[in-house]
Parts: sequence; structure tokens; C-alpha cells
Amino acid sequence: MTQPLTQFSEEEEIFRSTVRDFAEEKVKPLVEQMEQEAKQPRELLDQMFELGLMGIEVPEEYGGAGGSFFMSILAIEELARVDPAAAIPVDVQNTLVINQFLRWADDDQKQRFLPRLATDTIGSYALSEAGSGSDAFSLKTAAEPCDDGYRISGQKLWISNAFEAGIYVVFATVDPSAGHRGITAFVVERDMPGLTIGKKEDKLGVRASSTCEVVLDGVVVPRENVLGEVGKGYKLAIETLNEGRIGIGAQMLGLAVGALEGAVAYAKEREAFGQKIGEFQAVQHLLAECATDVHTMRLHCYNAARRREAGLPYAREGAMTKLVASRIAESVASRCVDVYGGIGVTKECLAEKYLRDAKVAQIYEGTTFMQLNTIAKQVLAEGS
Ligand SMILES: Cc1cc2nc3c(=O)[nH]c(=O)nc-3n(C[C@H](O)[C@H](O)[C@H](O)COP(=O)(O)OP(=O)(O)OC[C@H]3O[C@@H](n4cnc5c(N)ncnc54)[C@H](O)[C@@H]3O)c2cc1C
Repeated sequence: MTQPLTQFSEEEEIFRSTVRDFAEEKVKPLVEQMEQEAKQPRELLDQMFELGLMGIEVPEEYGGAGGSFFMSILAIEELARVDPAAAIPVDVQNTLVINQFLRWADDDQKQRFLPRLATDTIGSYALSEAGSGSDAFSLKTAAEPCDDGYRISGQKLWISNAFEAGIYVVFATVDPSAGHRGITAFVVERDMPGLTIGKKEDKLGVRASSTCEVVLDGVVVPRENVLGEVGKGYKLAIETLNEGRIGIGAQMLGLAVGALEGAVAYAKEREAFGQKIGEFQAVQHLLAECATDVHTMRLHCYNAARRREAGLPYAREGAMTKLVASRIAESVASRCVDVYGGIGVTKECLAEKYLRDAKVAQIYEGTTFMQLNTIAKQVLAEGS
């Protein structure tokens, strides 16, 4: 282990408090507007680029912040504490998109794409389709070899950041008869002819984060844009999601911290029966249980992230983090609504938004049942 779990190095502590200040000063005033308009202002995304939050692990030679995976986790947590939707561009950009480039891009691809991703271009990770979510490798998007490279046709669904993105990592099959061994990752650019952004989903939660259909109609992608090896896209997808799930854990951790902080403040202020509601033992116990649950999430999340940094296996820990954090976040957010009473279910306080924002974490980057499948496979193979 590089660091004790809940302690930060000096560099991590400075980074964490910088992101917290940014979230308080720049994100918080926009939360209501972003929720209502279901979008994030481009200026806010630009400020995230300026602060280095969109290229945390990108080496400085490519214009990035030269930081660590753990710092990405801290950034996601701190942003989600204020707005879980505002954390999504940072999460997808760092734990899914850039992560793939750092692991599998060749030198030429790193030169072409990393400086853009670190400084001004949002990335999307386009795996899911209408007929293939959990069963991701039954995808139908096809990449046919052609003179100039590959001609890609198909429809991706549920793609986060798709509305704002300039670069899409698209998974398509070069040989449908080969099953998962035909799946290949391609770097597709927004201005390539044949790429259009379709319907934007109107969601229960994380409304300010765009989730769109991405339509590819004969998009010609040069051979130099194949990320990793042809037929190895399934490996890229699996390995990236192992890290992405720790990011979702961090998002849910931040959400639960934000929800709990709000409930604690309200318990100290609201009066009933002539005393502050925080003086009732029932409310104290509710808050104590929530705080204990938050600690559990933090231990899972930081442990998985530290294991990844230390080069230890972390697939099981990543799945456990997402499983536990997504369940606990919903439950903490719901109990925090209880602390507010009636006002808790209105738009007048953020408690109801935290509750709505929590639900999706049990679905994206692998549903709860898929996390259990991953954990079960490892438990059966290696024991507990
Ligand atoms: C807001 C949002 C953002 C998203 N962002 C992205 C993105 O950026 N990129 C991307 O590629 N995708 C993205 N997704 C897609 C997401 O990953 C899928 O929705 C998810 O994997 C579930 O797939 P599905 O919706 O097809 O559900 P299904 O796979 O149809 O699942 C339906 C139900 O069946 C269960 N089930 C299915 N198979 C099994 C099994 N083998 N064992 C037990 N239970 C099973 C599931 O657990 C679930 O309860 C996003 C989704 C949402 C909602």
C-alpha cells in the first residue's frame, strides 16, 4: 500500500482541498440551474479543463496534470459531494477514456489525442447499445474493413458526455461470427462524416449529465485509429470498467457525504417539541448510522484505488466498491430525506436530488447483478 487508507499525502491533500474549493465556489451556485436545464454550461467544463481535472493522469509532456489515479478518485468524490452530475464528465474522462489511451494507445495516438483530451476536448465511452447493455459483447455495431480503414455503422445508446464530446471510443465488431473476439475499439471524432448525436435521455437523476444515442452511419475511421489490437476490444472494455467502477464508488461516496452534511446542518437548526431535532436520540442514531455507512464506502473505495495504484489485483475490490457504494448511497440519501421531513421531498432542498442521483449507480458501468456475478466468479475461483 502506498498510503494508509483514509490518510492523504501532502500532494493529495492540497489537490483535494483545491477541488473542494472549486466545487463550492464554481459548481454549487450552478446546481439548481444545471438541474433545471439538464445541462452543464460549457464555461464550467472549461474551468474543469483549466484546473487540470479533465486530464488528471495525463503526463505533463502531453499537457496533462501528471497526477495519479487516486487523485482522479478524490476529484470525483469532491465534485459529487456538491453535484453528482457535475462529477460525471470528470469521471468518464479520467477513469474510462483517458485510462484507455494511457494503457493501449500507441505513441502516435497519444500525441494526437492526449493533449486534446487534457486541454479542451471531452471524451465519451461508447459500448452499450439498445440490445446489449449487461450483455455488452453481443453488440451489433459493425466495422467493415475498407480501403481507408474501417467503415463503422450502428447505434450506441446511453452514452454519457456524448452531447458535449469531441472524441468517442466506440466498440464495434470486425467479425460478428467471432463473438467477443471480433470486438475492437476505435477512436471516432465528432466531425467525421456519418456521426450524429441522437436522442438525449430525460432522466430521473444526474440530469445535468448528457446521456445520448450516438449514431454511426458508415463512418470511415482510419486504421491508425484502432485503439489496442483488432479483436481485443473486449479486453479494453473489461479492464477499463474495472477502474471505472471505483470511480462510480467515489461518485456515490461524494454524494453520500454531501447528503449527510446537509442533514446534519438541518438537524442542528430545525426545532420540534421545543428542541432541536438533532437532540432526539432517534435522529442522532440515524445520523450515526449514515456516518458509519459513509465510512464503509470510503474504505471500500480508497482500498480499491490504492490497490490499483500499488499494482495489486483490484477487479474484485472495484466490483465490491460499486456494489456497496451504490446501495449505501441510495440508503443514506433516503434517510437524509427523512431528517428534513416534508421539505425533504421538495425541490427546496437538495436532499431529494441526492436521492434521485443515487439510483443510476446501481445500473451504469454494470448493474448490481453484474457486480455480483464478477465477485461470485472470483470467490468461486479463489475463495473469499
Ligand atoms: C445514465 C446512464 C449513463 C450511461 N452511460 C454509459 C456510457 O457512457 N457508455 C456506455 O457504453 N453505456 C452507458 N450506460 C449504459 C449502462 O452501462 C447499461 O444501461 C447497463 O449496463 C445495463 O444495461 P441495460 O440497460 O441494457 O439493461 P439489461 O442488460 O437489459 O439489464 C436488465 C436487468 O437484467 C439484469 N440482468 C441482465 N443480465 C443478467 C445476468 N447475466 N445475471 C443477472 N441479471 C442480469 C440486469 O441486472 C438488470 O436488472 C449508461 C446508462 C445510464 C442509465
